[in-house]
Amino acid sequence: MCLYKHCPESPRTPTIRDTTHTKTALLDPVKMASLTKVATSELVKELQRRAACEQKNERRTIFVGPPGCGKGTQAPIIKDEYCLCHLSTGDMLRDAVKAGTEMGIKAKAIMDAGKLVGDDVVVGIIAEALTAPDCAKGFILDGFPRTVGQAKMLDSLLAKEGKSIDRVINLEIDDELLVKRVTGRLVHPGSGRSYNIYFNPPKVAGKDDITGEPLIHRGDDTEDKLRTRLQEFHAKTTPVLEHYKSKVATINADQEINTVTSIIRKSL
Ligand code: AMP
Repeated sequence: MCLYKHCPESPRTPTIRDTTHTKTALLDPVKMASLTKVATSELVKELQRRAACEQKNERRTIFVGPPGCGKGTQAPIIKDEYCLCHLSTGDMLRDAVKAGTEMGIKAKAIMDAGKLVGDDVVVGIIAEALTAPDCAKGFILDGFPRTVGQAKMLDSLLAKEGKSIDRVINLEIDDELLVKRVTGRLVHPGSGRSYNIYFNPPKVAGKDDITGEPLIHRGDDTEDKLRTRLQEFHAKTTPVLEHYKSKVATINADQEINTVTSIIRKSL
């Protein structure tokens, strides 16, 4: 069953029978009706975007770094430029918690404590999400893999398709600088865009710059929970960098957002 927002389209999407050619045309009446509401200039822009994406090389990338290092800020910028999908296991788990799925209910207590959810659970989520059409040109994994076990499972998942990870971006920053970054963080749940009330505030307080929708402050973005999450990061996630040693680019994440973005671009 498909539980996440990155799920591929349902194969049971209704189709219109094209009687002229007596074969089934892929015209979904619901989608076609909604397209009539989209301005032609927007449709043309979307077509141009898709055509440009066709020319891009595939890239399979992992962003590693402690909570608040900027993974969630950088990933949405980079994924648009390179036509990648952005898969954040934290976001997907929060969606499952919100939807009240069995897995979400189990994960909630672990997440609230700042501990790591089981490897099998997150690998299952990622395996499903990677099949989405918007991952065709590759992906940015944000917050995954967080253990060497997860990294090994990911490698075998990709190897089955003759693929492997191309690049690991390690966003390095001192623990003490993360407190303000994390406690001041606001997130737009729909897109994953993140802001910070101290360093990168939204144009209108509490609202996403692009959609105007409300921003949220995550329940685990408190100082005491951050300390536990940092302990988990240093103990279990730092070894992931050793696992991917030859593919790692380490970037100082204590710099302006634009500076970090341009260094990531050069490292990809
Ligand atoms: P994040 O949004 O990446 O900070 O993740 C929030 C919480 O979700 C973490 O503190 C973990 O409890 C859980 N989580 C997210 N990704 C993973 C993962 N790859 N492995 C285990 N737990 C995860």
